[in-house]
Amino acid sequence: PPLPDGVARHDFDGTTGIATRGHPEYGEATDGEYRRWDPHRSKLGAMLALGMDTGLEAGQPTLYLGAAAGTTVSHVADFGGPTYAVEFAPRPARDLLDVAGHRDNLFPLLKDARKPGTYAHVVEPVDVVVQDVATRGQARVAALNRQFLDGDGRLLAAVKARSEDVTADPEEVFEAVVAELEASYEVLDTEPLDPYHEDHLGVVARPLE
Ligand code: SAM
Repeated sequence: PPLPDGVARHDFDGTTGIATRGHPEYGEATDGEYRRWDPHRSKLGAMLALGMDTGLEAGQPTLYLGAAAGTTVSHVADFGGPTYAVEFAPRPARDLLDVAGHRDNLFPLLKDARKPGTYAHVVEPVDVVVQDVATRGQARVAALNRQFLDGDGRLLAAVKARSEDVTADPEEVFEAVVAELEASYEVLDTEPLDPYHEDHLGVVARPLE
């Protein structure tokens, strides 16, 4: 699948990688306006680098769950539309505020993604929900936030096996999480994210009516 408009393949000193254009945020390689989107630092970046069909397009309103210090959401806001970034830990959220300071379309929300009612009055319906919460109950977080997605929208989730159960076989964890997701989403594609992120599964899904 083609990369979304606003995401380019770009050569950085002999290494070709995906890139967006915007203010650098985490020591990533840059070349003029281009900044490398490091798939080792970003699960969504890994999903794109691995060629998953994310359905992402430039300008889409996006809800991002688990924004941390803003590494990935900075790239999303570079090519996306209004981008709502939910993070409940105050420490990384401070850096997220700096990232948002460089982008007019990035709105940080210091909220718990398990309590969508606390931000439902701010977040408009979106085309994309990106989820990278690395917490127990990842399928539940996705189900709770399904309400923000338009009918033809997409959930792009990174599921971390060890967050659900440190001792279980990751394959079994993925199966259980996908089965739970299927109560509220049609799962379109799944892909392990290694070599970039071990024991993580990339998921592309569409909300059920
Ligand atoms: N997505 C980030 C990136 O690529 O730049 C990295 C995210 S990190 C793996 C997971 C983040 O999810 C942590 O910062 C954690 O505080 C946050 N998180 C976990 N559970 C959450 C919840 N219920 N609500 C909001 N944030 C949550």
